[in-house]
Amino acid sequence: MPADEPEPVQGDSARPGRADLVIDNISRLVTLARGAAAGAEGPLGVITHAALAARAGRIIWCGPAADLSAAVSAESARHMDAGGHAVIPGFVDSHTHFVFAGDRAEEFQLRHAGVSYEELARQGRGILSTVRATRAAAPEALRASGAARLRSFAAHGTTTVEGKTGYGLDHASESTCLDVMADLANDPDLPAVVPTFLGAHTVPPELRDTPGGRAKYVDRVCDEMLPAFAGRARFCDVFCERTAFTVDETRRILERATDLGYLLKIHANQLSASGGAAIAAELGAVSADHLDFASDTDLVALEAAGVVATLLPGCSFALSTPYPSGRRIVDAGLRIGLATDFNPGTSYSENMQIMIALAVSAMGLTLDEALRAATLGGAAALRLEEEVGSLEPGKRCDLAMLSVPDERELAYHFGVNLVDRTVFRGREVAANSTSR
Ligand SMILES: [Zn+2]
Repeated sequence: MPADEPEPVQGDSARPGRADLVIDNISRLVTLARGAAAGAEGPLGVITHAALAARAGRIIWCGPAADLSAAVSAESARHMDAGGHAVIPGFVDSHTHFVFAGDRAEEFQLRHAGVSYEELARQGRGILSTVRATRAAAPEALRASGAARLRSFAAHGTTTVEGKTGYGLDHASESTCLDVMADLANDPDLPAVVPTFLGAHTVPPELRDTPGGRAKYVDRVCDEMLPAFAGRARFCDVFCERTAFTVDETRRILERATDLGYLLKIHANQLSASGGAAIAAELGAVSADHLDFASDTDLVALEAAGVVATLLPGCSFALSTPYPSGRRIVDAGLRIGLATDFNPGTSYSENMQIMIALAVSAMGLTLDEALRAATLGGAAALRLEEEVGSLEPGKRCDLAMLSVPDERELAYHFGVNLVDRTVFRGREVAANSTSR
């Protein structure tokens, strides 16, 4: 039997067996369980006065605390006391760009002081400044800053982080960013990392103004980078936008990626009706992200193709642009994910609690919808629904223990960190000083 499989108790097949971790004194356990769970109520499957048991990093039981001793053998288990507070699944942040070097704080201030995009570009700011800094950075520096950022994600309750390349834009630098993510993914004290190749983020500076330069770059992505990175990145993503890559270029890159075994994501319809949403449906992408300018026809096509719509309210916040309606996307029947889009230019926040607050206050979602999108929806956007995103037997014991007794303080009590402790695979790895 594999070490991480629940061990049945002889003579009693209904008992899940021996626990090595028990978390009790939970006021409200937000399970989001997809099947029936004992005592679970409401759309989020909340169990009040609950306990949870795990073994070898996987959940083996959740239920009312009064049933714990009858349900599992916990004599030799480590006990964690939730302090009468709520426990939720760890957030699954399905869209980030956390591997980069450089600092764009000044650019943010200038932009909000009215300096134009063209002027900022003339000053050498914008995405190309991040590309310059990332190319110049030593791998150890990228690793150190990436680890620090992942610790910050964790401190805010996130247990799985997707990370994109796209600030290297040449074979060597993109490869380095994938190496950095592979290295960080092996660190048990950091959130799980899901790597995505986003070579098609923007055309690199050295090819921008040369004849045939962008075609040459698309050739490099398709013929050199995608084959070389197959198996090292789980997803391939393209920024399909008038300022980045056309629909035809996007199709060519993503078809090549599919042939090489990548799953697909698209930055779609963020700044214009770019055609990205339609191509996400056509090619069966796992997720289409942004969708600020998706038409009703786009939403019908995405729903029919089972594409997860990922909402990124941090961009609207940072760019001071109108928020797309999350309500409209939910009402069109799509599954939604909610993510930070953590990046140095347009959404510099690792805090999923802020995204939940924005989704509720500015995008028309209920808290239940936003919390589901931030956990199980993110898992669906990474095709990891069988592993993470809810608290139920068989799944990874990835969770956030709040500093308050009721998860309904999320969105309501905004701008502060309501996560007290974060647990990955049954290990407490992030404890915050906000505990009270
Ligand atoms: Zn992005």
